[in-house]
Amino acid sequence: MLDKFFDLFKKKEDKEIEEEVLEEVQENEEQTDLTKSEEDNSSENIIVEDKIEEEIVEDDIEDSIKKENKTEEIEEEPLLEETAEEIIKEDIDNKDEELIEDNLTEEEKEVEEKQGFFAKLKNGLLKTRDNISSKIDQVLASYRTVDEELFEDLEETLVSADIGIQPTMEIMDELRDRVKLKKIENPADVKAELASVMKEKLKSKNLDNTFNFDDKPTILLVVGVNGVGKTTTIGKIAHQQKEKGKKVTLVAADTFRAAAIEQLTEWANRANVDIIAHSEGSDPAAVIYDGISSAKSKNTDILICDTAGRLHNKKNLMNELNKIHRVIEREYPEARKEVLLVVDGTTGQNAIFQAKEFKEAAGLTGVAITKLDGTAKGGVVFPLQLELGLPVKLIGVGEQIDNLMEFNSDNFIDAIIN
Ligand code: GDP
Ligand code: MG
Repeated sequence: MLDKFFDLFKKKEDKEIEEEVLEEVQENEEQTDLTKSEEDNSSENIIVEDKIEEEIVEDDIEDSIKKENKTEEIEEEPLLEETAEEIIKEDIDNKDEELIEDNLTEEEKEVEEKQGFFAKLKNGLLKTRDNISSKIDQVLASYRTVDEELFEDLEETLVSADIGIQPTMEIMDELRDRVKLKKIENPADVKAELASVMKEKLKSKNLDNTFNFDDKPTILLVVGVNGVGKTTTIGKIAHQQKEKGKKVTLVAADTFRAAAIEQLTEWANRANVDIIAHSEGSDPAAVIYDGISSAKSKNTDILICDTAGRLHNKKNLMNELNKIHRVIEREYPEARKEVLLVVDGTTGQNAIFQAKEFKEAAGLTGVAITKLDGTAKGGVVFPLQLELGLPVKLIGVGEQIDNLMEFNSDNFIDAIIN
């Protein structure tokens, strides 16, 4: 055994082994976490329809069988004695780190948290950052002086990142004025000025970007066309709000397909929150009615309603949404009503078109842009805020439950430009 280890050790670099062990430990931890949260869920969730309940139970059983098998597989893998020693060493190191962390002041912890948040944001926006920031660098590096041609090249860069023609014009006019006023002559100094103008532009409409429901019980209607990420975003919001200590209930008002109800139920399980659901094809307004009754009797802080995303007929959409609004106004006047439009960031100008349509039909209070991790078109934030006056409240930067971030214009620009 020892010989085997030395052979292995010679072949691999120290670092590689450490990484492997770390991955293995993390995998084991994730496994335990998953199993734990599955157990926690079962007692709390309400499923109205028996049929759905049965399906979910079946799914749960299937899931847990799969998970058990996986855990067994992991346990069966023989650990090298020496690898086990590494794990123990790793554990001791971690404990040391915990101790050090305990000694951090509140301020230091806050700084660390902020750094963690920013790193995550930067990572999520990597493609947009690559697109905008490196193109700006290229443009600036190719000029010796700041002249009109440089401005034109910059303008093109902004338009290509889906910032939109009108917002780009506004940004460039302001940038030209500032460069003149501050007598900026070195092209390299233009970048910081541009970032600053972009931040101001995003704030110029005084939109409320906060996603905060501390003051009253809230009913959040989530709307948008199929496939943009509504259900996923709802799962992520539920998780975030639950972590903040809020009592959250989901309402499966996308009754168009049975799969939509199942998908939301899965997210309710993952986030460990309650869900109200009826069967496929039932009236969305009736499910929301039941959701409101439940929220009132259980003092729910946030009721989040999934809706069907059918835009093929605007009149239908309007009728359906109007009916829902009427039910909310009649049954839950004391609640704060938020209508969040979800758009898919990878669709660029199409997202703007959808936002226009829904703005008219749905009385939107904010937008969530999803899939920004997979696109260089993050500039779509500008037309949404500047042309349509819709505050971006959330951005989705991945498929996992914690890949949702509250939008802040300064952080956003820092993450894509600096
Ligand atoms: P819905 O039809 O609007 O409810 O959309 P879904 O929530 O079912 O999502 C459609 C697809 O988009 C799913 O495969 C999600 O995993 C994916 N998705 C949603 N949000 C994000 C995101 O922020 N990043 C990535 N990469 N994928 C996402
Ligand atoms: Mg859905």
